[in-house]
Amino acid sequence: MTIASEVHAWSRRLWADRVDPHFLDRLRDVVRTHILPHADHIDREDIYPTDIIKTLARMGYTSMTLDRQWGGQNASYQQCAALFEEASYASAAVGISLITILQAQTIIARFGETPLKQRILPLFAQGLLTSYALTETNHGSDIRSLDTKAVRNADGWRLNGRKSFITSSAAAEAYIVLAETPVGVSTFYVAANSPGLHTEEGPNASTFGLRNGPHMDLVLDEVQIPADQCIGTEGKGIRQAVTALDFSRTVAGAISIGIARAAFDRALAHAASRKAFDAKVLEFQGIQWYLADLMTEIDAARLLVYDACGALDRHDSISRYASEAKLLASRVATRTAEQAIQICGAHGVTLNAPFGRYLRDAKAYEIAGGSSEILKNTIAKHLLKFMQSTSAQ
Ligand SMILES: Cc1cc2nc3c(=O)[nH]c(=O)nc-3n(C[C@H](O)[C@H](O)[C@H](O)COP(=O)(O)OP(=O)(O)OC[C@H]3O[C@@H](n4cnc5c(N)ncnc54)[C@H](O)[C@@H]3O)c2cc1C
Repeated sequence: MTIASEVHAWSRRLWADRVDPHFLDRLRDVVRTHILPHADHIDREDIYPTDIIKTLARMGYTSMTLDRQWGGQNASYQQCAALFEEASYASAAVGISLITILQAQTIIARFGETPLKQRILPLFAQGLLTSYALTETNHGSDIRSLDTKAVRNADGWRLNGRKSFITSSAAAEAYIVLAETPVGVSTFYVAANSPGLHTEEGPNASTFGLRNGPHMDLVLDEVQIPADQCIGTEGKGIRQAVTALDFSRTVAGAISIGIARAAFDRALAHAASRKAFDAKVLEFQGIQWYLADLMTEIDAARLLVYDACGALDRHDSISRYASEAKLLASRVATRTAEQAIQICGAHGVTLNAPFGRYLRDAKAYEIAGGSSEILKNTIAKHLLKFMQSTSAQ
């Protein structure tokens, strides 16, 4: 099975004017060489792929959308989505390891003061590994108030609290932490070696999908940080999170497309070679219809994801499209993985095959990074706003 296989040439057209073909060819080589051989191991052992991410960083892939002044590539979000799609075609665990880096970059680049940007942003091109810590035991979808507190003092800020389910936390060298201050939720940059900060592998750290190392608890016990590590305006953390999530949800859609394509390609290859009742499985019309439906859904989801990335590139308002992109792509990935198993019969169910991984990763991404229900709320909010504006006329 080749990566982004030839059978998927049909989808190249959808990329034609969006992603540089040379970039794509080189990227596929990198994925084939550096990610694909390790994908099953990463998932089985639940380990953070440090070497892979550091290698990708050296090649510029972890700082693609960063401005050149910070050592980045200044690439478009459409190109960046291709990175996430191709990497996740091999391993969604690598995809989410990249996304927690993108989230931290986005927040600092968009909201940080210049001295913080000058100090931290160039570190990403050198391979800085980061996590984004919003969730707490008592606050998942609703982070408008938090139990983690930050108090200003003469030396800057002092943080206390505990975060849960933190992706990439097994290896992160720095965290973006949301904490409540007297004027509301605020965002902080906290280095992993700050005194008083440590990770704990709680009972819920192991997830069945998106396994890039345990999703640890982050414990902040009297953690003192300098004043300029409060990112942007105090009390604006929710606004910043909404913006950062608009970016990462769009790109998360590309991770789901990568999972869906991998499951589809493997099922198609199996159906083309497996015989039953003196025919290839692919010759049964019932199976062809499964594949035709999946192909249509993957194409539709991919168009939405790349269109949303185009909107990011144009600096358009994105929250509706980011939500639609992740909602549809994550749903399509789960459905594709599930149907791919059906098409492959027992060969889809065996632990030796990757379909279980695809299904587990796809399902977990219907929750991580914003659950489908919350995405639908966001989309519906736009609809209601539109209806209110038309009824007011
Ligand atoms: C694999 C994985 C990785 C993760 N990584 C991170 C990370 O790196 N950083 C981080 O901070 N968090 C992370 N999380 C946590 C994730 O962001 C939360 O799980 C998610 O926001 C949902 O919160 P919850 O699980 O507490 O569900 P809850 O908020 O308890 O919701 C439970 C159910 O109710 C639904 N629901 C909640 N509110 C509404 C509403 N208003 N309308 C309709 N339905 C609603 C939800 O959609 C869900 O179906 C991760 C989670 C997973 C599974």
